[in-house]
Amino acid sequence: MKPIPYGRQHITEEDIQAVVEVLKSDYLTQGPKIAAFEAAFAEYVGSKYAVAVANGTAALHLCTLALGVQPGDKVITTPITFAASANCVLYCGGEVVFADIDPETYLLNIHSVRTLLEAAPRGTYQGLIPVDFAGRAVNMDVFRQLANEYGLWIIEDACHAPGGCFTDSSGQRQNCGNGEYADLAIFSFHPVKHIATGEGGMITTNNAIVYQKLLKLRTHGITRNVDEFSNSLQFALGDPKTPNNQDVAEWPGWYMEMQDLGFNYRITDFQAALGLSQLQRLKTGLARRKAIAAAYEAAFENQLFIKGQSGLMEGHAYHLYVIQVENRNGLYNHLKAHHIFAQIHYIPCHLMPYYRQFGWKEGDMPHSERYYANCISLPMYPTLTIQEQEYVIETIKKFYA
Ligand SMILES: *Cc1c(COP(=O)(O)O)cnc(C)c1O
Repeated sequence: MKPIPYGRQHITEEDIQAVVEVLKSDYLTQGPKIAAFEAAFAEYVGSKYAVAVANGTAALHLCTLALGVQPGDKVITTPITFAASANCVLYCGGEVVFADIDPETYLLNIHSVRTLLEAAPRGTYQGLIPVDFAGRAVNMDVFRQLANEYGLWIIEDACHAPGGCFTDSSGQRQNCGNGEYADLAIFSFHPVKHIATGEGGMITTNNAIVYQKLLKLRTHGITRNVDEFSNSLQFALGDPKTPNNQDVAEWPGWYMEMQDLGFNYRITDFQAALGLSQLQRLKTGLARRKAIAAAYEAAFENQLFIKGQSGLMEGHAYHLYVIQVENRNGLYNHLKAHHIFAQIHYIPCHLMPYYRQFGWKEGDMPHSERYYANCISLPMYPTLTIQEQEYVIETIKKFYA
């Protein structure tokens, strides 16, 4: 039988046509599809600005760069995430401090964060990186209040949650990545995510200054914008004898300045075309994911050995469907023997060999470690058929029978 993975991309004929159209055009890298994808994505999540980049990790790196993370700066994140959420701090020479998760939501626990902040002198920490883990939106309103108390910035890792939302303290619906509470939010378009562009990522923000910085850092720190130039026009013209800058009306068209140490983190125009095409199906994909989650919830409701995702949640984007089970490794192997390829999200980041060198060890994050010991992610993607899901459910039930 056909293997059933935990997640997979969905490419339609329209997607393929959208890519082919760009391949036949004049632009392969920065072209009109990137701007169109950025505008459509910003509109979808409700942010003022969006910057498309090479991947989600590059998006995180540009965020820490744009926020000015320096050697010695301390930033707090969750251990239950993909390593990149933490690594972006190290790229700038900063230090990652993990705070434990809430055992009910599996999200960064605001009380653990507060405990860290209260225990250190003011100014010890610079920022927070909460993660909308599995697609469940972090209540960014309460994190913003805490961040304001301590003068911290917030990067929302929303890779799991395009289309996710939460209700803020004034009863308003807030989309993940809309920039209302977090300074910056990032998304990934890796094939297992909601939108697939092969590799790809997006940063959203409402901050015009940070937005301009991101644009520059995405492409080597180079600007071609006359208003941003630092050198004199005389220098630009390469003519020391030019009598007076003001006499020359035009800067030469080829002139540009490298002002910051940036990177080449551009996405290609054909990837942006694919992303734009996939964005049109994000809503229907989310509806299908919700239906799959509901079917799992119903199936596991009265099961002794399985704990579901604590009820169906309105704003959950269901990138993953994570359950907590007894004998997790036994279940994983049983599913694998039946061609069902579940996954573990995540091995706690603080226990990765690389992070252990900074002193992190077993027992530091008890809730995260307990969660990890029992977690397993079941197949969750829009093209998972009803029959396939029934087969997954039956296979799990048989294991515990
Ligand atoms: C996928 C993912 C990333 C990294 O995205 P890439 O596009 O693979 O670089 C970062 N954070 C989380 C939570 C992710 O799921």
